Amino acid sequence: MNPYIQYMYSYPHKTAYGPLSGVFLKEYANLLSGPGQGLYFHVPFCQAKCGYCNLFSVAGASPEAADRYLDAVERQCAQYREVLAPFQAVFSELVVGGGTPLFLTESQLERMFFLIKEHFEMTRTADIVIETAPNQTTAEKLAILKQAGVTRVSMGIQSFLDEELSTLKRHHTAEAAERALILLKSFAFPCVNVDFIYGIPGQTEDSLQSSLKKAVSFSPDEIFLYPLYVKHGAGLEHAGVVPDAQAAVMQYRSAARFLKEAGFRQDSMRRFVRTKEKRRFSECGFGSSLALGCGGRSYLGNLHFCSPYAETGSECFRRLHEFERTKDFTEITNGIFLSEEEEKRRYIIRHLLIYPGLSLLRYRARFQSEAADDFPLLAEWQEKGYLQKTTSKGGEGAAYTRKTEGGQEDFLSLTEEGLELSDYLGPQLISSEVERAMQKWEERHGRIYGFIPRQSEKL
Ligand code: SF4
Repeated sequence: MNPYIQYMYSYPHKTAYGPLSGVFLKEYANLLSGPGQGLYFHVPFCQAKCGYCNLFSVAGASPEAADRYLDAVERQCAQYREVLAPFQAVFSELVVGGGTPLFLTESQLERMFFLIKEHFEMTRTADIVIETAPNQTTAEKLAILKQAGVTRVSMGIQSFLDEELSTLKRHHTAEAAERALILLKSFAFPCVNVDFIYGIPGQTEDSLQSSLKKAVSFSPDEIFLYPLYVKHGAGLEHAGVVPDAQAAVMQYRSAARFLKEAGFRQDSMRRFVRTKEKRRFSECGFGSSLALGCGGRSYLGNLHFCSPYAETGSECFRRLHEFERTKDFTEITNGIFLSEEEEKRRYIIRHLLIYPGLSLLRYRARFQSEAADDFPLLAEWQEKGYLQKTTSKGGEGAAYTRKTEGGQEDFLSLTEEGLELSDYLGPQLISSEVERAMQKWEERHGRIYGFIPRQSEKL
């Protein structure tokens, strides 16, 4: 059985979005009222395209092209500020993703932070998260991040072995990654995260472990382990690379064991955290978040929107040029309105796949129904040993916990086996309607993951 079906980090997939008309930000801006809002800034540029990547990014853009992009984002920020003005939105989180945000020059990075500060109110203690890659990580750029109050830097290393990096068509060397990590650690950001990939053709349990051993020796705060997916439009797809799922499973098991023995707590199939702190529940998937730039998604209540999904280089260029020519950024032309059923699915997906899991009490409070009645699949998974009921004592998420007898709260959480099957279980929660919309997109463009089994193909 191949457990690597689809990474469900959000729901629904962007390919299920469609054209919208007559929808304007001003009608939904009240959902960004007051404190606790999220901001996302997308930087769609990379040095070169990695072999496995079909994220929204273009390779080798000139500094002038990046300037033009920032000019467009500045116009977008000004229009958004005007619409948000009556609602006093205060942002407590900023995520700068991409692409490779540090591909921007130093002055462009400074301009990016200035734009945000000029147009949006951020709390003084805001979480500011940014992604980087080894070749773009310089002392000068890290100093700008430090100055801007960045709290978490995430670096894609993927492997500490040159052969594996070359198979992935990554454009840094193991030596450059090591230098960049030493430099990054020397800046003492509150959280440093490093990403690795397993299931690379030619990779072994030992070679993966040697990469992780080196990573652990630099004491990162978090390590993310990603199985290799060859997605539609990515270079490895054209090269005919097919990851070996069984080898990947074995590598995952030994890597997870190794990281746990090295003192990391496993919070999901991908996330390993170096902490002794107790896991805290955080309600996710329903906060409002506004995306700046082209390629990121905004979430305003049940309205989710972004520029149309693009996965090949030429499509990304086309969307980027469209973005730069946009006159009215407040008109929402592509997205989806989630029905209550889809919101339930989203809630389950966003909580079940990460510890401590799905709080049955909070689900009931939010939807006035029982998760078990809405999703009989959950009982099936419990019977099969993929899910278990756990009880947490009070203290986490006080508002609801206090209402429970003895301050206890029941969670449905993945077992070890369930955790390993996250990318197999998650896609089964996709509704038929969303699946049909994804299928329609795939009929025109090709299958996103190459091998998503449809309902009829499920094991
Ligand atoms: S994996 Fe990251 S660095 Fe590589 S092309 Fe994709 S966005 Fe750029």
